[in-house]
Amino acid sequence: MQEPTPHIAATLKMLRAAQGWSLDRASRATGVSKAMLGQIERGESSPTVATLWKIAGGFRVSFSLFFEQASVEGGPPDNAAHAVLEDAAAGMTVTPLFAFDPDLRFEMFLIELAPGAYSESSPHERGVVEHVVVLEGALDLGLDGAWDALGTGEARRFAADREHGYRNRGERAVRFHDVIHYPQV
Ligand code: MN
Repeated sequence: MQEPTPHIAATLKMLRAAQGWSLDRASRATGVSKAMLGQIERGESSPTVATLWKIAGGFRVSFSLFFEQASVEGGPPDNAAHAVLEDAAAGMTVTPLFAFDPDLRFEMFLIELAPGAYSESSPHERGVVEHVVVLEGALDLGLDGAWDALGTGEARRFAADREHGYRNRGERAVRFHDVIHYPQV
C-alpha cells in the first residue's frame, strides 16, 4: 500500500467538519469503522481503494476529490506522481485522468490491474453509471456476482448502484478506462 497521504487525511477531516459529523456518525454513513477513519485522518493508515470508495459514497462526493490535483481545468495532472493511488493489496493502481467536473458530472480514471488482481466495489449512490473501456489485456467485470469477460477494445456501461467488481485472471496487466457519471443533485 502507498504511504498515507496528507491530502487524503486532510480531505476526510474537511468533509467531516463540513457535515459536522462525529467519527461515529461518519462511520455509520460510510460503513468504515471509527478506528479506521481516525487512523486515516491522523495519517496513520492509507485506505484501500475499496475503503476510499466507501468514504466517498458515504459523504456523497466524487472519488477524485481524494486525489491531489495539480490542474482543476481538466486534463492530466501536471504532477502525476502525487495523484496516483496504488493499492498493493488489491493489485490495483488508479490514476485520475479528468477530475470530477461539477457541470458535466463525470470523472475519468485509468485503472491498472496486476495479474491476479481482484477489486470489489460496494454499490455507489443511486444513479451513478460507470463506462468501462478495456485498453489492454482482458478484464473480468463482475455485476451482481456474475462475471463477464471483456477483451481489449471492448466497452461496457452499467448502473453502478449495485455490487460490482474487477479482476484480472490473465498473465499480463489489464489497463482500462473508467468514466464515472454522477446524477444531477
Ligand atoms: Mn465502482
